[in-house]
Amino acid sequence: MTAQAVCLTSARLIDGTGAPPVEGATVVVADGRIGEIKTDGEPAPAGALEIGLEGRTLMPGLVDAHVHVSAFDMPRALKGQEAVAPEVRHHLIAQGLRRMLRMGITTVRDVGAFGDDLLHARQAIRLGAIPGPRVLACGRIVSATSAGGRHFAGMYREADGPDEMRKATREQFRRGADFIKIMTTGARSCELENSSPLQITRDELAAVVDEAHRMGYRVAAHCEGLDGTRLAIEEGVDTIEHGLELHRAAELLEELARSGRVLVPTLSCFFHVSENRGSRWAPGLVRLAHKQLEEAHRTVEAARRAGVRMAMGFDSQPHGQSALELVRLCRAGLTPMEGIVAATTGSAAACGLDEHVGAVARGMAADLLVVDGDPLEDPEVLLDADRIWLVVQSGRPAAGAALETDLAALGAAAPGADPVPALAGRPLS
Ligand SMILES: [Zn+2]
Repeated sequence: MTAQAVCLTSARLIDGTGAPPVEGATVVVADGRIGEIKTDGEPAPAGALEIGLEGRTLMPGLVDAHVHVSAFDMPRALKGQEAVAPEVRHHLIAQGLRRMLRMGITTVRDVGAFGDDLLHARQAIRLGAIPGPRVLACGRIVSATSAGGRHFAGMYREADGPDEMRKATREQFRRGADFIKIMTTGARSCELENSSPLQITRDELAAVVDEAHRMGYRVAAHCEGLDGTRLAIEEGVDTIEHGLELHRAAELLEELARSGRVLVPTLSCFFHVSENRGSRWAPGLVRLAHKQLEEAHRTVEAARRAGVRMAMGFDSQPHGQSALELVRLCRAGLTPMEGIVAATTGSAAACGLDEHVGAVARGMAADLLVVDGDPLEDPEVLLDADRIWLVVQSGRPAAGAALETDLAALGAAAPGADPVPALAGRPLS
């Protein structure tokens, strides 16, 4: 049985390709895909459920190309309170995913998770057990034996030498990974690591890329220092994560632009550490983050001039606020339209899904976002839950302010302390 067609009328359409907005557009959605797109104000086809947007902005659902869904701090019990059970993690992961979808993020690429919890959440979403964006997962991050492997225990698969690297890559296919993530340099967020030098050998990276590509998987490379970035580009990696020193190497930016590969600048992760809210980070890492933030800004400017395709990768918290990366890309020199392109078609390309998501075009998956406001005028409207009017996922209205009545909104407020005492009904004496 085919589902009833949905017809979104009176839309101000931003299609994600960078084309100028179109007023008064009608977009027909059927069987999870985008059908006809009309701009002549024709009425909705007979039998379709019409949703009048009254001039609101209709755009593709956002795609976050660099998230760590399972990387958050577990709540901690006070002394004497019941300890927080480790299994509560699953529910908090589900909460993060639900918040993402609520904010119009309809696809995420998770580039490193602890254990297999995220893979389980991906399955739960596919089974319809929990709401959430489409999740692409890398399984474990493939890395040389490193201090980071100890620091991020459970997130890395350490391997040394081309054969072991190949095996580590195959293990991720076995685990159900959608793509491979490889560390070419250390991570700035681990004090014991120097993120400047190359951390793996050319032979090791070549083995990973060969194995992944031959089997039809894409490769994302963590690259901080320039040597790792250069090696990743030379060895055919598909996306450069961070790549903050690229502004120093015009030839590498040219090569990225020529080959259409995607840079995911992740400005927010440098903000996250340099702002150091609550003094949570080691002082040396905070100093480094300030320096790296400056470099990352210069790289965004240089990449833009060179015509490199960029993607929105928040790589930060809180979950659901990925559009803050879009805002920051705009502050770093992208126009709001270029920011939106990065957060939609650019990120979809980073995921290898640009034939399916990221644009409002006939035949694409109907992952759509209706914004009560103009993100071209002010991209920050994408951070305001009240302005995220409707999120359509695979053709189905899935989240958004329009689906929440006033009473439901009251219920959605953070739960207060239970007014009934924990030991009520069980007098102690
Ligand atoms: Zn990351």
